[in-house]
Amino acid sequence: MQRPARGRYNPRMLDDLERILIPQDVLARRVRELAQDIGRTYADSPHGLVIVPILAGSIIFLADLIRCLPFKMRIGLIAVSSYRGTAPAAHGPRVIQPLNVDITGRDVLLIDDILDTGNTLRFVREQLRERNPASLRICVLLRKPAKAPLDVTADFVGFDIEDVFVVGYGLDYNDLYRNWPAIGVLRPELYS
Ligand code: 5GP
Ligand code: MG
Repeated sequence: MQRPARGRYNPRMLDDLERILIPQDVLARRVRELAQDIGRTYADSPHGLVIVPILAGSIIFLADLIRCLPFKMRIGLIAVSSYRGTAPAAHGPRVIQPLNVDITGRDVLLIDDILDTGNTLRFVREQLRERNPASLRICVLLRKPAKAPLDVTADFVGFDIEDVFVVGYGLDYNDLYRNWPAIGVLRPELYS
């Protein structure tokens, strides 16, 4: 894939990328399409849509997506820690901050940056189901079909990608690169 002109990006981030997987303009176009799909799905919702983003990876996607939605909606915040296998205190996902809005009888759309093993989304979905929403759907920007589990399916998917470690547009490595405006593949020597 062709590299963008150097001056347009922070060179220190660009140097850490092996390649750009999804450029900014492609992301922007697809996010607008997703918003149209979501808009059609909930256009006649009598219940009121509550979008629940899984922090922090989905923040950039969320911000762009909801500004394309043409109707009133609410955001519900829940904070979940999902240490992955290599973390010192490895454990499954757990709730750090419970959901801050009432979703009983409402249409809920759970948003995450990427559907990988599905452990995080499976866990949060169960947390939300216990609160009896009228409906519960899942939207992810990225999905790795090589790994995606059969029991956690997304209703809205931005892009299916190969099984590589990506950063940017909200996705981090070590809490860095979230502000990179496109999706890039991190140079493997930086995390292996
Ligand atoms: P899962 O629980 O589905 O295995 O993982 C979901 C979370 O793992 C995502 O929300 C994301 O934070 C992280 N993750 C999975 N794959 C990637 C990746 O390729 N890049 C980054 N930056 N995070 C990932
Ligand atoms: Mg995440």
